[in-house]
Amino acid sequence: MENFKMYIDGEFVETASGKSFDSYNPFTGKVWAQVAEGGAEDVDRAVKAAHRAFTEGAWPELTASQRGMLVHRLGDLVARDAKKLAEFEVMDNGKLIAEMQGQLNYVPQWYYYYGGLADKIEGAVIPLDKKGYFNFTRHEPLGVVAAITAWNSPLLLLAWKLAPALAAGCTVVVKPSEFTSASTLEFVKLVKEAGFPDGVVNVVTGFGKDVGVPLTTHPLVKKIAFTGSDGTGRAINEAAAKTFKRVTLELGGKSPNIVFDDANLEDAVNGAVSGIFAATGQTCIAGSRLLLQESIHDQFMDKLLALAKTARMGDPMSMETQVGPITTQPQYDKVLSYIDIAKTEGAKLALGGGPATRPECGEGWFVEPTVFTDVTNTMRIAQEEVFGPVLSVIKFKDEEEAANIANDVRFGLGSGVWTHDIGRAIRMSERIQAGTVWVNTYRAVSYMSPFGGYKDSGLGRESGIESIYEYLQTKSVWINTGAKTGNPFVLR
Ligand code: NDP
Repeated sequence: MENFKMYIDGEFVETASGKSFDSYNPFTGKVWAQVAEGGAEDVDRAVKAAHRAFTEGAWPELTASQRGMLVHRLGDLVARDAKKLAEFEVMDNGKLIAEMQGQLNYVPQWYYYYGGLADKIEGAVIPLDKKGYFNFTRHEPLGVVAAITAWNSPLLLLAWKLAPALAAGCTVVVKPSEFTSASTLEFVKLVKEAGFPDGVVNVVTGFGKDVGVPLTTHPLVKKIAFTGSDGTGRAINEAAAKTFKRVTLELGGKSPNIVFDDANLEDAVNGAVSGIFAATGQTCIAGSRLLLQESIHDQFMDKLLALAKTARMGDPMSMETQVGPITTQPQYDKVLSYIDIAKTEGAKLALGGGPATRPECGEGWFVEPTVFTDVTNTMRIAQEEVFGPVLSVIKFKDEEEAANIANDVRFGLGSGVWTHDIGRAIRMSERIQAGTVWVNTYRAVSYMSPFGGYKDSGLGRESGIESIYEYLQTKSVWINTGAKTGNPFVLR
């Protein structure tokens, strides 16, 4: 049995209460680790350590280039340990080793990119309209950042926050999901090895109400970078407003994947399957609403079902497996309950529709890849995020109707458009209300390209240059170079 402690001020430490909780392996359904169960006292200790590291000692003395080199070195260490970290993720959250190895080999790019960006954040000299003044701007780090991650891709989601936050000069307290804390605690050893001063990065593990709430309401926390559900995001945003904390919120989605009759159907079928069954549908960008033009509906469905039926389920640690378990027992129950809801709403079950009982799935929390046709966009299965391998297929007549259905949902995270008509691709990319539009592809992300949500899918952007400004604030400096101080009772 593995035993994980919290990481505060450069040390692995016990919680104030001495309590710990069980962490399950979703493939076996059995406990494989004990994780420290933090509380408000531990949060306070971690935030104070982060605040100290922000205001005194080595960190604020570093030049931006030196900070960038540390962030870059962290990327090198992640690259070195990618295989080990990927195995931790698989053990703890049941994601496929095939996907996690690729993901962990790519995660260093966020550290390299923001490491390189650290010393390229320049202020501006403002060509003022007033004589006798010199005015320039500086971008200064916000302070202590609370980085809160969801369970589906802990180290990727952390890199999206940590790399720009550190490059900007902030310090960080991380709270991983209670379901998947292990990989973050393994990763943080690399922060120490890279040479970051103590207190710059801290990890407090535990439950949302015990760790998340005190962390997001702590007066010394200046910014919250959150990935999770829209419900928790809303609560955090409300709490943050009381003390004017900055927030970035990466929330859920109900993304439309839209196939027009002029698309390359083989590619679009691959895109539709990858959109919903990759990562067992447990991704915020899951293309969980497949919008099919009426004229190709039947032909497309034949191809899609044929491909989906071949999906190999089983041990996520096997490179052959294509669909793994659901990460948590509550999520498993939720996915099954949505399947029941879809059946009672009148959607037609075309594939799957319940727990996977194949022998290769063992005792794990597996759900059969599930497809519902004859879905209308008003059904709950079309409006609410399932976060599992459940696809809703909706027919449309033309571009107008496709755009209306695509936008008739409160989320706006990802979207896909499959067409060979370049004009249509551009028109649709303009009309769809979502942070990302993929044309003739799906589920592509890069450290260089901004990612985030429209509508209830979130606030702010991660990745790309603009993301670093989410961790900075702008100061305007005025210097009198010879202006006379005249009437003191008017604006200068
Ligand atoms: P939750 O909102 O339940 O939890 C997210 C994190 O917030 C967890 O660490 C959780 O801790 C913590 N938390 C819970 N309650 C509070 C609180 N009141 N205050 C502060 N923190 C709290 O989401 P899930 O972990 O279930 O993740 C799935 C969701 O994440 C889906 O909606 C998915 O779409 C979204 N997501 C969005 C992404 C994006 O980039 N837009 C990417 C990946 C996922 P604990 O685990 O202990 O409850």
